[in-house]
Amino acid sequence: MESGKERDDQSYRLKSTICPVCKKSVDAATSLHGKGIPQKGNFTVCIYCSSILRFTEKMGLVAATADDVMMLAEKQPKGLMMMMKLQELVRQFVVEKAKKN
Ligand SMILES: [Zn+2]
Repeated sequence: MESGKERDDQSYRLKSTICPVCKKSVDAATSLHGKGIPQKGNFTVCIYCSSILRFTEKMGLVAATADDVMMLAEKQPKGLMMMMKLQELVRQFVVEKAKKN
């Protein structure tokens, strides 16, 4: 059997991109569907600042607009719920990390 293109873990390594919100380098993305490569127009959550971001045509990142979020709420409510959960996790992680320092 040929080794598949899909990976076992859920994150996909990206060419390093800067988060437009916190300016940190983001080099991995986690698919909402648990597998697969992020594509232009897909949404992601910044692991550093928990902002909802969207992949551009050239796979850069821009902050999602209110319209984007409205569209998600309408067309992919489950995806939006997952991202909001992820945002919560990122925020908790940031708070925990701050406590240790
Ligand atoms: Zn960020």
